[in-house]
Amino acid sequence: MSVVEKEKIETFQNFVNGKWKRSRNGATFENENPAVRGSNIGLFQSSTPEDVREAIDVAHNTFRPWRRTPLAERQQYIAEFLRLLKESREELARVVTLENGKTIKESRAEVDSALVEGTYHLNQVSAFYGHIGPGSFRDISTWVQYEPVGVVGVISPWNFPMNVMSRKTLPALLTGNTVVFKPATFTPWSGVFMTQLFERAGLPAGVFNLVTGLGSSIGNVIVDDPRVRAITFTGSTEVGKKIQVRGSANLTRMQLELGGKNAIIVMDDADINDAVTATVTAGFSNGGQWCTSTSRVLLHRDIAKTFLEALVSRCEKMTVGDGISETVDMGPVAGPQQFEDISKAIRQAQADGAQMVAGAAPGDPKGYFIRPTVFTGVKTDMAVFRDEIFGPVLAVCEFGSLEEGIELANKSIYGLSSAMFTKSLSNAKKYIDGIEAGLAHVNIHTGYKEPSMPFGGVKQSGAGLPENARTGLEFFVDQKAVYIRS
Ligand code: NAD
Repeated sequence: MSVVEKEKIETFQNFVNGKWKRSRNGATFENENPAVRGSNIGLFQSSTPEDVREAIDVAHNTFRPWRRTPLAERQQYIAEFLRLLKESREELARVVTLENGKTIKESRAEVDSALVEGTYHLNQVSAFYGHIGPGSFRDISTWVQYEPVGVVGVISPWNFPMNVMSRKTLPALLTGNTVVFKPATFTPWSGVFMTQLFERAGLPAGVFNLVTGLGSSIGNVIVDDPRVRAITFTGSTEVGKKIQVRGSANLTRMQLELGGKNAIIVMDDADINDAVTATVTAGFSNGGQWCTSTSRVLLHRDIAKTFLEALVSRCEKMTVGDGISETVDMGPVAGPQQFEDISKAIRQAQADGAQMVAGAAPGDPKGYFIRPTVFTGVKTDMAVFRDEIFGPVLAVCEFGSLEEGIELANKSIYGLSSAMFTKSLSNAKKYIDGIEAGLAHVNIHTGYKEPSMPFGGVKQSGAGLPENARTGLEFFVDQKAVYIRS
């Protein structure tokens, strides 16, 4: 079954103070399965600003008891949440595929990633607390006391609808904060599902609250409220900038994980097969709708022809279809707006004179399908080189030297992820030192990450402390410097 039949359409509610609630005005919005145009897989609350304020009130009032809850107890709730998440892997993966379009295998991988990251934070949080030491004078003791910041606003995108929210929410809760969560408008179901797991894990009422609705109408309410002490946002650079400006009115702490235009640099000594596999993996997984997707392919002139022949042949063999099928290589893009934006970017690249060597004019009447697309002959002033398309579209350029390759990669307002394929240690070291990106991979695709490593971008790809690693916990605490003379 790839779409819920009309008569079975369920209405999902907000979750505030431990209760499922309708929005005040009773309005709802539909959720479309992108593999089936015109489908509706559920109705979700179009929350009003008052609904959001009520959720913030609750999170604010719950903060005091929650911050006093012993760490070991908070860990038990999160451990139970993770146990339920593991148990629900298949069901949740299906929800992600139905509303986002990615393949069922990709959705399972997303759940697995959330489990690995969540377990990391659960274990790390004990080690995170507790610095104590002698001060400069013998009778003075000092320590840094980590205190939760208060109410945290979690605003997440649709491309990893459960993993991004859990990467933010679990460390926020473990460190004693309460949460108001707004999932992306395209993918509210995954957010509701995760909320149900918190409810089943027995999390006290009011600690975690969910409100669904349009980002532009209710996101602002979260950002503007001075009781929300920190915002952790993942989404576009455009919206991230707006949030930064609005939040600055209250000096709200910001963690912004934003867009990218990630480059893979393939040197003349690279293993071509590995480099092509990495390009296909990071270029087309999740329909290229991955903040760390490869979108620019920079080839050393001497291997460009061989690489491109192999890449185009791989693209042509890929199957694109309903992601719920176990055998499909790539699902649809996430919805009509995405489809329009990507199609427009493809038309623009053609109009600018780039050559489409893989792909086809988008236009399948059944769903929002776009084939893996590759453009050669790309110049650095073309939109296809410059703009984040957030779809299965690769822009290929050639270079003649290592320095030129790195310079091309850095020719972007973004700086999220990157990769170099080479057998030379010296090339790798120069790339690592010279690349302007938060993630640098050598002989590994641009999407690879581990929970113990900071995850965040430089330049216009992000601001504030990165997610994951120690910083992923540190973002959610105030650091009080304590001095005691005894
Ligand atoms: P988006 O910026 O349109 O929306 C992100 C979230 O912000 C959604 O929940 C949306 O409803 C909400 N929102 C929209 N306007 C708002 C406003 N004015 N105030 C507050 N909230 C508002 O992004 P998207 O289309 O959902 O996701 C795609 C983007 O996310 C891409 O640019 C991608 O690169 C980026 N992304 C980045 C990372 C990362 O870790 N750096 C990870 C995933 C996605």
